[in-house]
Amino acid sequence: MRKEEYIDLTFKYSAKNYYPLPVVLSYGEGVYVYDVEGKRYLDMLSSYSALNQGHRHPKIVEALKEQADRLTLTSRAFHNDKFPLFCKLLCEITKKDKVLLMNTGAEAVETAIKTARKWGYLKKKVKENQAEIIVCENNFHGRTTTIISFSTEEQYKFGFGPFTPGFKIIPYDDLESLEKNINENTVGFLVEPIQGEGGVNVPREGYLKKAKEICQKNNVLFILDEIQTGLGRTGKLFCYQYEDAEPDILILGKALGGGVYPVSAICANDNIMDVFTPGDHGSTFGGNPLACACGIASLKVILEENLAENARIMGEYFINRLKEIKSPIIKEIRGKGLLIGVELKEKARPYCEKLLEKGILAKDTRENVIRFAPPLIIKKEEIDWAIEKIKEVFQ
Ligand SMILES: *Cc1c(COP(=O)(O)O)cnc(C)c1O
Repeated sequence: MRKEEYIDLTFKYSAKNYYPLPVVLSYGEGVYVYDVEGKRYLDMLSSYSALNQGHRHPKIVEALKEQADRLTLTSRAFHNDKFPLFCKLLCEITKKDKVLLMNTGAEAVETAIKTARKWGYLKKKVKENQAEIIVCENNFHGRTTTIISFSTEEQYKFGFGPFTPGFKIIPYDDLESLEKNINENTVGFLVEPIQGEGGVNVPREGYLKKAKEICQKNNVLFILDEIQTGLGRTGKLFCYQYEDAEPDILILGKALGGGVYPVSAICANDNIMDVFTPGDHGSTFGGNPLACACGIASLKVILEENLAENARIMGEYFINRLKEIKSPIIKEIRGKGLLIGVELKEKARPYCEKLLEKGILAKDTRENVIRFAPPLIIKKEEIDWAIEKIKEVFQ
């Protein structure tokens, strides 16, 4: 079939909740993907950072295949022999007592919200149904009805009400607002270390550390959504490590499944996680053996291949080379590790289409920002090649 036919079929049979760039992919390996005509592209989106380990990492695919031949799903009605091993490894890596496994990022965020609320009622003694969670403007935490209830993006909300109450929205990177908006009903502050979907917004140095201090002082849970920034993306295993701002609840997803399987989790210590008793919360697929096998392999690849360190070194190189590009269209270049945003003075979509023609996959976010977030296994030569193409588009 021709490329146009696939695209026509997509629009004929799928809800139009996405507007993909006009490329039809059929093969992936490492940092590269190939379309149905055999043309090669450098993937600079990495499925929104779910592919930190690259496409079809051999060790993760092997784990998937091996487990698929043994046992795929048990539900949590029974124990399985992969679940505890993954939980243990994830606890060791995050230095938390316990984890709670889910599938998608939004489910993990929902889980964090439920955890914080229940902790509030049981431990902080907040009055029934009065719990408040503080969130930030421009946040992105997923697409469920509760999560979009505290989005500030009009399109994410339009037509989807009524919304879940109990959230207070403050400006990002604003400690004074955080302090001012905490009251006796505040159970948590939910924030992204860098706002990825919000346009790659990097807060001032010290923001996370100070926010954590404010939370601690007021007996409020400090909850970090590291679904996009975590697992090496920003040059540390977790972005909070730049400021030593370890959260009470850490939310992970995306690269936790190595791009082959949806795996998400929240990680917290016993004094928080012990609010759960059997039957409180659950997921049919959460923590299934296939997910756990992929999760173990995904984490091992990140650690064994020093992907965080590579992201730090390659990210610094990439951002410096991007800053060499002199173009009247570019307004600002910002980021950390291999999460880089190029803000334009114009709409970004046409430039993403031009990059696509040159063999680079990148996606606009928030109208005028192009996000460059390649797999963390990327090499210097591949960045050099990309820079030449990006130069051609902007100069
Ligand atoms: C992608 C993302 C989510 C949602 O994850 P899904 O798997 O798409 O539900 C939540 N928070 C952040 C910061 C994300 O980048």
